[in-house]
Amino acid sequence: MAKRAAHRLAAVERSATVALLDRVQQLRATGAALVDLSRGEPDFVTPGEVTEAAVAALRAGRTHYSPSRGLPALREAIAAKLSADNGIVVGAADGVLVTPSAKLALYAALTSLLDPGDEVVIPSPGWVSYAAMVSLAGAAPVPALLDPATGFRITEGVIEAAVTPATRVLLLNSPNNPTGRMTDAAELDAVLTVARRHDLVIISDEIYEHIRYDDRPHLSPAAYFLENTLTVNGFSKSHAMTGWRLGYLAGPADLVSAALKVQEHSVSCAATFTQIAGTTALEDSRPAVEEMLSAYTARRALLVEGLNSLPGVTCARPEGSFYAFPDISGTGVPDGSDFAEWMLDDAGVVMTPGPAFGAGGHAHVRLSFAASENELTQALERMDKALRGR
Ligand code: PMP
Ligand code: GLU
Repeated sequence: MAKRAAHRLAAVERSATVALLDRVQQLRATGAALVDLSRGEPDFVTPGEVTEAAVAALRAGRTHYSPSRGLPALREAIAAKLSADNGIVVGAADGVLVTPSAKLALYAALTSLLDPGDEVVIPSPGWVSYAAMVSLAGAAPVPALLDPATGFRITEGVIEAAVTPATRVLLLNSPNNPTGRMTDAAELDAVLTVARRHDLVIISDEIYEHIRYDDRPHLSPAAYFLENTLTVNGFSKSHAMTGWRLGYLAGPADLVSAALKVQEHSVSCAATFTQIAGTTALEDSRPAVEEMLSAYTARRALLVEGLNSLPGVTCARPEGSFYAFPDISGTGVPDGSDFAEWMLDDAGVVMTPGPAFGAGGHAHVRLSFAASENELTQALERMDKALRGR
């Protein structure tokens, strides 16, 4: 049969988070009054100065291709940011690749690194697209199951147990989507020990870097193991720029050059006026980022406290990101997919099922607090009613 999808797509489902977005839109079109806490995107508007920079760039005719690595001014700004904030020293000329989204940065990194038969260790629970991207690259995702009883801590034993002679890459994500955990010094040490022992490449997804609480330090593996680490970051979450599609990859020149080939033969470059806006975001928008963070801080308190007062629900305080990831196993509906379906049908509250993030999320659901305090309060009231009505 000639007309068929590639065999490697058999291992790939639609993105659970993106599919849920579509479903919410369809249900709303039929008049359903939903409170949507599944959204993985800030509900704030993009900072004004960023939008103004893009409009000015459009009016100035900056509507053509940029260099495939990205505009030099943005690469300089990214290299300066990585050095100042993260202790990562890379050259703007050959150590930075500007990409149309962090998703594309991850995809270009994985595609350029992996051959069929290679394995990638992914701590589970982990973001929905990691395993899919590895499969799309023709390689095999291998979950390293984290223990909910330890608060999903990464240990040397858990990572080492998932490593085989075929392992090439270790994927890290801190602050974490969906758990809200941030990698601490002991966990980073464990990861670096295993990566050094087996000469693994670390891909570190740091897209929630600026959304973290209680002055917790953000640790970047590339500050300690630059030669084997690709750092991925972007503007979607920190600067409320999800629709702009702008991200970047940084690391040693040889690995960045390999990813550049994927970018050049697929999308060429990120949109030029978007890159100009991104430069403004990095240089001028810290106050806007701080303002959003203070709103997330208040919402985190509201949501976590509310969740813990629901019967059968326990929720740790997220250290970073805008997600709460409660354990719902005490509610009588112990599977995260069944629970999310129940809350959608009975309470009109949309949340992401924990199992969408891998086996490690089976007794959990993800609720986003990139939503107003009013929406959070309503969702909690509706959930309380449904849970007590059982
Ligand atoms: N990594 C994680 C953990 C995410 O939650 C997201 C959100 N979509 C991304 C990467 C991709 O971000 P974007 O493609 O919007 O830059
Ligand atoms: N990353 C967000 C989420 O986890 C947005 C959707 C997506 O790209 O997966 O919901």
